[in-house]
Amino acid sequence: MILYKTEAVVLRDYDLGDQDKIVVFYSPKYGKIKVVAKGARRIKSRFASLIQLLSYDILLIHKNGEKSLDTLNEGEIKYYFPEIKKDLLRFAYSCYLVELVDKFVGEREPHPFLFQLLLKTLFLLEKGSKYTLNLLMRSFELKLLSVLGYRPYLEGCVNCRRDTKLIKSFYFSLKLGGLLCGSCQEVDKGRINISKKASLLMSYLLFSSLEKVFQQKVDKSVQKEIELTLRAYFFYQGQRKMFTPHFIHSFEKLE
Ligand SMILES: [Zn+2]
Repeated sequence: MILYKTEAVVLRDYDLGDQDKIVVFYSPKYGKIKVVAKGARRIKSRFASLIQLLSYDILLIHKNGEKSLDTLNEGEIKYYFPEIKKDLLRFAYSCYLVELVDKFVGEREPHPFLFQLLLKTLFLLEKGSKYTLNLLMRSFELKLLSVLGYRPYLEGCVNCRRDTKLIKSFYFSLKLGGLLCGSCQEVDKGRINISKKASLLMSYLLFSSLEKVFQQKVDKSVQKEIELTLRAYFFYQGQRKMFTPHFIHSFEKLE
């Protein structure tokens, strides 16, 4: 019997027959893995807390060979993010994070850095809502794009490479993947108008640490601009439309 041990975060689960569940975990060494949790649909399952959405676990998994899914042997919870689960907005943000990872990362594609990024973002969300959670999300998105090879060019104009310091009017090109200067705007008819503030902030969100980003205070309108630009960019990359943002906005309106 071959067993392997790994840390992992629960991304989602779905039912398998009457008794079992398939749980999608994200781990640093093995990437996204689908594992069968036997008996997990039973009320008194020993896996109940281990496979809850967002749980950060240490798992022992039984390897079943190429043709069948691995099975969960045992595990323990390292952290279950109780504060996030008490707060609807923070919970919605967290759901969005795990959904992003689930949708954009292929199975068994390890990105240890992305795992650490996900974990760090969840721990910052756990800390509190008095900080700028919206910027934290945007920073996570930009860093995720970067890890997966879709990093937009934000240091200057993606076409002529003029530095941001020398650009007066800014645009964003989905097609070229980055900022455009006024002189180059004609190269992309579908360019998005974006303010200087939002352009510079996007670059800051990409290159600064999450802890720094977390403590910034920025106008809501600039946050919104970045959010819409990035959403368009994610969509352009040919990925499926995300469902959670609508869910989040209904909570933001309530706040
Ligand atoms: Zn240019």
